[in-house]
Amino acid sequence: MNASSVAAPSADAGQTRSFPTIGVLALQGDVREHVAALAHCGAHPVLVRRESELAEVDALVLPGGESTTISKLLAAFELLEPVRARLRAGMPAFGSCAGMILLASEVLDTRPDAEHLSGIDMTVRRNAFGRQVDSFETDLPFAGLEDGPVRAVFIRAPWVERVGNGVDVLATVPNGPAAGRIVAVRQGNVVATSFHPEVTGDLRVHRMFVELVRAA
Ligand code: GLN
Repeated sequence: MNASSVAAPSADAGQTRSFPTIGVLALQGDVREHVAALAHCGAHPVLVRRESELAEVDALVLPGGESTTISKLLAAFELLEPVRARLRAGMPAFGSCAGMILLASEVLDTRPDAEHLSGIDMTVRRNAFGRQVDSFETDLPFAGLEDGPVRAVFIRAPWVERVGNGVDVLATVPNGPAAGRIVAVRQGNVVATSFHPEVTGDLRVHRMFVELVRAA
């Protein structure tokens, strides 16, 4: 890592492409886990808490945590409109769990004052799995990833109830009471998972995202 890729990502496109600067929204949630996963995948992770930091990144990760809390903090840190503007302009993004909720265009079972970012044309139901299975792990076939299913950890996770045109479904729950529910999606350069690839040590989802950022 050298300073130039941090200070001037757009002034040195070659450097940026090989070693993209990926922000992790660092207001609440499992920020450190995403930072570690991104670093392992050959990205340069940086924390984003202010608009000036957002302006420096090639892409943004929205961590797992508590979506209504992150929503409030996005407003308090005056980041809601800047993040929406970057998403509209095509910035790649990846959200896990609470991050998926934040990336939705419509959210069910949330607080009436919760904000979202409309990075993906989808309706997401918060805390969808209910008490019986509100936290669980499973092996999940994931479109585009080689070497078998990913180990997926769900913690009071959402699922996707509707996807718009142009949204690819990457994974659905393979079996059990929630079989068939959509838990990973992609629209353009924006990816979201109901589960937490940042906590398992299986880096394939992060690697796929870093590749996507490089190609963007
Ligand atoms: N249930 C949480 C929410 O509503 C998400 C849980 C998570 O990110 N692990 O934001």
